[in-house]
Amino acid sequence: MKKPIQGIHHITAIVGHPQENLDFYVDVLGLRLVKKTVNFDDPGTYHLYFGTREGAPGTIMTTFPWAGAAPGKTGTGMVGVTPFAVPEGALPFWKKRLEEKGVAVTKTERFGEKSLSFEDPHGLKLELTARKEGEASDWTYDTITSAEAIKGFAGAVLYTADPDATGRLLTDVMGLEKVGDDGHFVRYRSEAPLGSVIDIDTSVTESGGYGVGTVHHIAWRAEDDENQLEWRSHIQEAGFRVTEVMDRQYFKAVYFREKGGVLFEIATDPPGFLWDEEEDRLGTGLKLPPWLEPSREKIENIVIPVTNPAHRGDQ
Ligand code: ZN
Repeated sequence: MKKPIQGIHHITAIVGHPQENLDFYVDVLGLRLVKKTVNFDDPGTYHLYFGTREGAPGTIMTTFPWAGAAPGKTGTGMVGVTPFAVPEGALPFWKKRLEEKGVAVTKTERFGEKSLSFEDPHGLKLELTARKEGEASDWTYDTITSAEAIKGFAGAVLYTADPDATGRLLTDVMGLEKVGDDGHFVRYRSEAPLGSVIDIDTSVTESGGYGVGTVHHIAWRAEDDENQLEWRSHIQEAGFRVTEVMDRQYFKAVYFREKGGVLFEIATDPPGFLWDEEEDRLGTGLKLPPWLEPSREKIENIVIPVTNPAHRGDQ
């Protein structure tokens, strides 16, 4: 490939009740619900997308909320921790805010960078990392200003059954640079301002199992359809089985499982979230792909009704 991969596009997690999920990511973390749609493979359940104002690539946390489903186990073969980047100096604000909201917070440090470590209501492991790189977010909420707001992903911490093989994929195939070690962490990075720092935690050796509170997959950015196809052949040539291109409405996707068990996706930046909703209306409607529109009434009767905490005052 001419260019290395441009960082993370989105990370998708399995969570519990959709209202608890919305309340946490919107009302506690201050992210915007940029799209409310359904899981195309299970249309009776939601697929929620959270991000900054327009849901820019590198900022999108997506969830499959399955109310009442069994908890998973975070272990090898998945993203173990999802770190978000916040502006330098914002950690004291966040420690106070999270604790006021009843979230237990631990201070951590890797490669000289300070983070707050905590879990979402469904046990998903998250971090807020103070990071200079990455533009400040102009999406503000409650008392969270641009000086504190989440900018996007800081990166991801991978738990892998084969740290060397995963590392080789990152460097030799995807073009990330190996930065070095800090204790049991090995760091890799790409050039992107957001979602560019990948740490492999080599101390985790027990295998994970999907369920509530675990990450399902991590998606990397492709510039457009053509660039995605280039990546698809490049990854196939490196010996991985890659799926056909799938239309996810807001991006196109191909998937492959890396040798350490983590499900990787390559997702296109375009078309993004603005093609079927105006910027000021993002996340307000239940959006369905054309092939599910005929079943809208049925779907609307099945999905659990939810309220976006950002709009509670308007109703
Ligand atoms: Zn995805």
